[in-house]
Amino acid sequence: MALSRRDLLFAALGLAGGAAGTGLFHAFWPLHDLNHRIAASSNHALHAVAEVPSAQEALQRLVDGNKRFVDNHLQHPHCQNHWRESLAQEQHPFAIVLGCSDSRVPPEIIFDEGLGDLFVIRQAGHVADDDTIGSIEYAAEHLHVPLVVVLGHESCGAVTAALGAVLHDEPIEGHVLRIVDDISPAIHEVREVQQNQLDAAIRANVRAVVRKLTESGPVLRSLIRKQKLRVVGSYYNLHSGAVEWLTI
Ligand SMILES: [Zn+2]
Repeated sequence: MALSRRDLLFAALGLAGGAAGTGLFHAFWPLHDLNHRIAASSNHALHAVAEVPSAQEALQRLVDGNKRFVDNHLQHPHCQNHWRESLAQEQHPFAIVLGCSDSRVPPEIIFDEGLGDLFVIRQAGHVADDDTIGSIEYAAEHLHVPLVVVLGHESCGAVTAALGAVLHDEPIEGHVLRIVDDISPAIHEVREVQQNQLDAAIRANVRAVVRKLTESGPVLRSLIRKQKLRVVGSYYNLHSGAVEWLTI
């Protein structure tokens, strides 16, 4: 069966006025307000997203997908044969996710997305080394993806190891040292924190990576200045499955 790209897009997005109720974000939404908006959202429908969505539209789609995941109302979109075939020649992911390799935090599942939706880079501690940044540059510049999500998570083993190595001189061997080195600036930030130090370090690491990507020249910094790209930070709760959006 031959389906046009428009047919596939409309079928996949379930275009039926689904934006009613939650609405899309304003041009510059305050991230500190985002978690309240998520809590208030009761519409599980996918939003209509153009082939090149805005960063706000992309973020709203992730918010909605995570709400479906938390509420156990998964749609498992974009897994069908015809959708897979339509992607064989090209891809149009709507968001880049830089997440941890931790087996409990797979972006496609926690955001209820499917084939071709997310451009995912995963490394322990979601470190932004040159290879990571090069991958993000490719997706942002050549695939025109408007949004980068740095996805940290509760009880991150990489941050735990970095905390032990930097603050308590615990031994680290092999290439894990490279990861610890990349996370160490965030550990130093929370050196004086007394309560929930690991959680503070995880959040500091997310913020540090967001800042590093935002300031990365020449490609990412330029795209951000032209308002063609936005970088946001987030924190995944292993217990609830909810993604919290962080103020940077
Ligand atoms: Zn982790």
